[in-house]
Amino acid sequence: MVKLNHHYSKLAGGYLFPEMERRVAAFRTKHPDAPIVDLGIGDVKEPLCPSIISALEKASRELGSPETFKGYGPAQGYPFLREAIAKGDYGSLGISPDEIFISDGAKNDIGNFQEIFAVENRVAIPDPTYPVYIDTNVMAGRTRLPLKTGGYGGIIYLPCTEENNFLPQLPNRPCDLIYLCSPSNPTGTAMTRETLQMWVRYAKENEAVILFDGAYEAYVRSPHAVRSIYEIPGAKEVAVEFRSFSKTAGFTGLRCSYCVVPHSLKIVESYQSFSLHALWKRRQETKFGGVAYPIQRAAAAIYSEQGKKEVKAFIDDILDRAKRLRDGLSALGYRVFGGTDAPYLWVKTPGKMSSWEFFDQLLEQHYLVSVPGSGFGTEGEGYVRFSAFSEASKMTEALNRLEMVAQ
Ligand SMILES: *Cc1c(COP(=O)(O)O)cnc(C)c1O
Repeated sequence: MVKLNHHYSKLAGGYLFPEMERRVAAFRTKHPDAPIVDLGIGDVKEPLCPSIISALEKASRELGSPETFKGYGPAQGYPFLREAIAKGDYGSLGISPDEIFISDGAKNDIGNFQEIFAVENRVAIPDPTYPVYIDTNVMAGRTRLPLKTGGYGGIIYLPCTEENNFLPQLPNRPCDLIYLCSPSNPTGTAMTRETLQMWVRYAKENEAVILFDGAYEAYVRSPHAVRSIYEIPGAKEVAVEFRSFSKTAGFTGLRCSYCVVPHSLKIVESYQSFSLHALWKRRQETKFGGVAYPIQRAAAAIYSEQGKKEVKAFIDDILDRAKRLRDGLSALGYRVFGGTDAPYLWVKTPGKMSSWEFFDQLLEQHYLVSVPGSGFGTEGEGYVRFSAFSEASKMTEALNRLEMVAQ
């Protein structure tokens, strides 16, 4: 008789977004005319830049003619895109095109990468966090059941709190597989060089591996923040880096991302050395068919002179909105974090309100949708996440409304 993978039954369930939708829908039914502004979205709203569209059109037409038709592409991605990334994103850091793997999403790459590690590995994950790191390890059987206090037994949570500036600190127990996200979703905080140096040193000394999620790298503006983990000496021996065109250039619908697995990243077991690059390549060749040619051409267009300008303007715009929202909320007396190197603002609930209480208040009194911080982990309780992906006019409306109620 067929048996299920019962690790899936441990999943506490996609509770956050369905519950938010339920509450927003209930509110809409009661107040059909309320002009709701959604500051909860984690998706890009702007249309794609012109350079991207013209590359997409041109490449699609190539597929319609026998001289330029393309069938299966290389599982690792076309060399033209890997070369553009190596030069454009890593220039002086010395990452070779062969160390880059093109994929159709950082979410799936990060979710899949844990496959090549044993179930016994002890996993460390920031709290609050992007839920994919946790859920994929639950599915793989690397955790015990959900705890009454929140989270799962068996995961080493790294609290990111106001006290430590939302920067994950070394745990007091050993860990083998470490997830880091910078700039962070949901706290909007970028990791400092010192913190990352500490983690790289830890990974070297303890033969651990860091899975570094840089999905919001393009939003980094602070001079002290790190864009790539490979800026830290020694990181090429301990870290895999994931990046995506989703938040960088609005590819959430097109789907294109990449990860960097350096050749020098080796795991030594019983005096034998294993290359993570070779294992991941083998995995991708077996389970992944590559990203569509026109999409890879569209991604490569971001590295042209014109493409670079357009994408920078796209991100500057979102960061500008984040700043306005940050300034506006701060002026109203809210404690606001993030928003300078990320599209997200992490806002402390007033008084001793819970995340859900503040969510309800924002919805009912200000017609604003936020994301309750508690949905990202135990340490997210007492916060909500605002995103600057909403249209500029909506942002102004949101701020006006908050101000009106404050008066
Ligand atoms: C949006 C996001 C991703 C990735 O997205 P893809 O669209 O799958 O490339 C990865 N990590 C974090 C933290 C994100 O917020």
